[in-house]
Amino acid sequence: MFKKILIANRGEIACRVAATARRMAIKTVAVYSDADAKAKHVGFCDEAIHIGGSAPKDSYLRWERIIEAAKATGAEAIHPGYGFLSENEEFAQACVDNGLAFIGPPPSAIKAMGLKAESKQLMEKAGVPLVPGYHGSDQSPMLLKREADRIGYPVLIKASAGGGGKGMRAVERSEDFDAALESCKREAINSFGDDAVLVEKYAQRPRHIEIQVFGDTQGNYVYLFERDCSVQRRHQKVLEEAPAPGLSEALRQQMGEAAVAAARAVHYVGAGTVEFIVEQAANGGMKFYFMEMNTRLQVEHPVTEAITGLDLVEWQLLVAAGHKLPLAQDQLRIKGHAIEARICAESPDNNFLPATGSLHVYQKPQSVSFERGPVRIDDGVRQGDLISPFYDSMVAKLIVHGTTREEALARLDAALAQIHIVGLSTNVQFLRYVVRSPSFVAADLDTALIPREAPVLFNQEPVGLAMAVASAVAHTLLEEKALEADDPFSRRDGWRSHGVMRRTLDFEFHDKAVSAVLTYLHDGALLLTVGETSGPLVFSPSASGIDVRFAGQRNSVHLYKNSDLCHVFTGYGATHIVAIDVLAHAGDSHAESGRLTAPMPGKVVSFAIKAGDTVQKGQALAVMEAMKMEHTIAAPADGVVTELLYAPGDQVAEGAELLKIGV
Ligand code: ADP
Ligand code: ADP
Ligand code: MG
Repeated sequence: MFKKILIANRGEIACRVAATARRMAIKTVAVYSDADAKAKHVGFCDEAIHIGGSAPKDSYLRWERIIEAAKATGAEAIHPGYGFLSENEEFAQACVDNGLAFIGPPPSAIKAMGLKAESKQLMEKAGVPLVPGYHGSDQSPMLLKREADRIGYPVLIKASAGGGGKGMRAVERSEDFDAALESCKREAINSFGDDAVLVEKYAQRPRHIEIQVFGDTQGNYVYLFERDCSVQRRHQKVLEEAPAPGLSEALRQQMGEAAVAAARAVHYVGAGTVEFIVEQAANGGMKFYFMEMNTRLQVEHPVTEAITGLDLVEWQLLVAAGHKLPLAQDQLRIKGHAIEARICAESPDNNFLPATGSLHVYQKPQSVSFERGPVRIDDGVRQGDLISPFYDSMVAKLIVHGTTREEALARLDAALAQIHIVGLSTNVQFLRYVVRSPSFVAADLDTALIPREAPVLFNQEPVGLAMAVASAVAHTLLEEKALEADDPFSRRDGWRSHGVMRRTLDFEFHDKAVSAVLTYLHDGALLLTVGETSGPLVFSPSASGIDVRFAGQRNSVHLYKNSDLCHVFTGYGATHIVAIDVLAHAGDSHAESGRLTAPMPGKVVSFAIKAGDTVQKGQALAVMEAMKMEHTIAAPADGVVTELLYAPGDQVAEGAELLKIGV
């Protein structure tokens, strides 16, 4: 076995790989960029080498530097994680050429599966069922359109070199094909440097079910069952689970064998995932089609670990060191049910716009164990860390395991409720809504789940005004009591001398000013009035926060205060409320919405208009790229563009004005 490996990645996956290496007594070398100088993975590894600037192209994608770092530290192998260089055959080849083991498949297998069109041609030969479509090399727009007409609408145009949900366009009608093709090709050349596309039948309400495969250098293959990753947004996974609900044993075996055939066809070695699109017929029948193969460890591999009891990174290391696969197919079993939720820094209610900022509070669920416990968190951050705009918005992964799906679901909801993040927007509350949505509960899974359940997923109010105010009041009074203990002269609850005392407290809840009246009664009891609601307020500190009772509700509340902003976490969900300290604030203004400014630091991709153009409210003006996603900046009102302040390709700071509009 290797004595030392280098991990050419960052964040949670770098920590995840390092943990297994440590357990196997293998030393680890981290690499890091400027932005990651203090990142968790740097301290987590035995050694760390700085490899360059914050942008991935200046560090995590600079493979010459990474290979140099491996040689300088005496590492014998490189684990690429996922993303970055993990599916770069030149890098894999360079490792081999430099006498380093690449912990992944041979370069030839990466190449064979790298382009979706070519890999489909290969799979066709290997007898793996394909989504009906065109994946030939003739790219003339006329031919592509003819093929789309033949396949029948809706069709999906896909960048052959695409990944991460980018470079895809759904086309509903023949007359829209040309425009969609043009825009898909443009995105493909910009994102992947290759504008070749394929055209596929666009399956309606399909499921995404993928098979984890493993191969060794002796030609042995197994499949470690499936993962259902149907719950997606922007064609990217949100929740993943194993086993796939409703998948018959026969179909599981058929898909597993098809995936192994795919791996065998490219002489695959190590961990890989074969992604299938599964169509469900009205009579419950399922048909599966090959979509693509990801030649790396997948983000969602922990659900497979949870149901098999295996450590896939350990298997990767064993195979890369030339060992035989530890188990054969007939020794593998599925135990229980596992679900993973991707915790991302983003605003689901704002079209999943990625968020940046500091993790002022980062509280994890109780009873977390790193590996294979019933509740597992894989993360690459600590409280206080900055989520920068340079990398992916995924902050952590929460993985739960249960004997049944119901048990796993209940555990997932409970664990999500215990994740407290303050400092930036996250999808934690959104995930709770998804997990509790009728479709998810009933395992009615398909890629349209999020749009279908939208009414119960977006713009929800988990904690009402009354409870938010009651929590903030309880917290304030407890704070005052703590102060009072230190300083007996600063008592604020003067009820003893004045009999009944009333106090007005001001709040702002969802941009609306709210006044609450607190009455101190003779017997020491408290009466709280918030709008129409009035009643006794009872609270007491508890081991897990504050137990608050008001207006017929009882809640265990955690409240984190950041100046006057109170972040309230309850069993039902989280919200925030501003407790206004009247003296401290005068004339604060709120950020204007709809200004023509960069919503986050990033790069200007293009302008859809030029100076002098007349624009209408809502019209797309510019496209920005940040956190690997494109964001469209729309006109807040009708007007005339007077000046563009940046050029495509420019890097801009958060809040920078992008262009000027006159009325
Ligand atoms: P998985 O299929 O393992 O869930 P994803 O498709 O979500 O993986 O991608 C895994 C990671 O790699 C994510 O961080 C994703 O943003 C990144 N990624 C995947 N493909 C690309 C690509 N072509 N270019 C840049 N990043 C990518
Ligand atoms: P990426 O490389 O970005 O992961 P994939 O080809 O794996 O691209 O597709 C990503 C997602 O897009 C799939 O998980 C699925 O939800 C959706 N998708 C892909 N192909 C089809 C199709 N032919 N019909 C319907 N949905 C599809
Ligand atoms: Mg995919």
